[in-house]
Amino acid sequence: MSLHVYNTLSRQKEKFEPIKPPFVGMYLCGPTVYGDPHLGHARSAVTFDIVYRYLVHLGYKVRYVRNITDVGHLENDADEGDDKIAKKARLEQLEPMEVAQAYTNNYHRDMDMLNVKRPSIEPRATGHIIEQIESIQKIIKNGYAYEAEGSIYFDVEAYHKKFNYGILSGRVIEDLRSNTRDLDGQSEKRSPLDFALWKKANPEHIMRWNSPWGSGFPGWHIECTAMAAKYLGDRFDIHGGGMDLTFPHHECEIAQSEASVGTSPAKYWMHNNMITIDGKKMGKSYGNFINLQEFFDGSHTFLEQAYSPMTIRLYILQAQYRSTLDISNTSLKAAQVAFRKLLNTYKTLPKISYTEQETKDDKFQAEIQKAIDLAYEGMNDDFNTGIALSAMFAMSGFINQFFTGQKPTGAVPKELFDKLVHTYTVFFTDVLGFVEENYISSESTVTSLLEIYKDAKEAKAYDKVDQIRALLKKEGVAVKDMKGKVDWAYEV
Ligand code: ZN
Repeated sequence: MSLHVYNTLSRQKEKFEPIKPPFVGMYLCGPTVYGDPHLGHARSAVTFDIVYRYLVHLGYKVRYVRNITDVGHLENDADEGDDKIAKKARLEQLEPMEVAQAYTNNYHRDMDMLNVKRPSIEPRATGHIIEQIESIQKIIKNGYAYEAEGSIYFDVEAYHKKFNYGILSGRVIEDLRSNTRDLDGQSEKRSPLDFALWKKANPEHIMRWNSPWGSGFPGWHIECTAMAAKYLGDRFDIHGGGMDLTFPHHECEIAQSEASVGTSPAKYWMHNNMITIDGKKMGKSYGNFINLQEFFDGSHTFLEQAYSPMTIRLYILQAQYRSTLDISNTSLKAAQVAFRKLLNTYKTLPKISYTEQETKDDKFQAEIQKAIDLAYEGMNDDFNTGIALSAMFAMSGFINQFFTGQKPTGAVPKELFDKLVHTYTVFFTDVLGFVEENYISSESTVTSLLEIYKDAKEAKAYDKVDQIRALLKKEGVAVKDMKGKVDWAYEV
């Protein structure tokens, strides 16, 4: 089965066929560098990290662009209000770029901890003002934008006469019209549906640039249109983002591209769903807002303990990216156990060697092959990482049977054994993007204690054996006492 992707634009799963294989251009709306990076940021970044990783795994040459929004994102997500970054800069007497850089650093720190790969290009909106002005000029020239009092607005009504405003989000323009408050006479817009491409800066506005229309700053939507076109061309393969960006942000991006260069920018539009906490939407206004550092150190009152970055990563991957993801302590603890199990298996791989034998176990062979196939089937079905993880657990079970000696490795052909080890390794590291985490203070102490354990066992000093076992358990280490050998694993 080849890769199929759910396309928000067509509202169905489509076979993935890049415009110019083997090249794939992919754009993800990155963070607005405001506030602490939270689980919502992580879900979007991890979702598209998986898309990126899997496409690379399949052999595509991917150019992955993820922007940094450091201007133009106004407080109420509309065309009025303070710029979020400028406001913080003013309050804390900082240079706006200082604020943006500090947030960017935190974002990188947290995403690195989650082992999210950095994009190929990470452009900043403030570094692309000229490109944005040029895009706006094209839109004006083509008759889809107008100037009013030094600001430029996109003319949605004029656009909709020729194109379909609502093509992506499924919104109907008549409904949008009736749901939008009438202009109060103060607004410069021709229609309340129109959105800003360029805003005139008030005297107190600190983030401002010169433009053909006077001193001002770009609207939020135009940056992605300008930067995606610059680095990926007018037409590229994948555009991603959180579901909350579908409207207005992505709808506006399509309109801006059609209006400036006459083409819809992306072939496939992918959107990850939102996070809920105990069934309720997560957000600052809901008082249940947990940032990533609080997960990692367990400091938020909602959390019963700290959860490691890989626990969070696995937690995100358990759900298909298009379904909502609910967090609770119970399910986070289950994710911790699940990751430690997968990690324990990963650590045993170098300790298993293949020994040829004549009698083969056909049923066992078929089961292993089925698990390997399932891992790919899951990923090929719109990046269903939940299925891929269940395949990982099945593979982990087979590997453990080999490791403990329950099954001789020779029960399957060497080719299949190697394939199992290879698939498990590649999925653990490259495809699902896990890294080893260390939960013990000293591995050499554990190894020394295990030596004493073995001696005590040989001397039949069972009190001492139990003592050491209990001591190690307290340190988070489980003793694995197997036929002819003793080893350790992380307590799950
Ligand atoms: Zn964007």
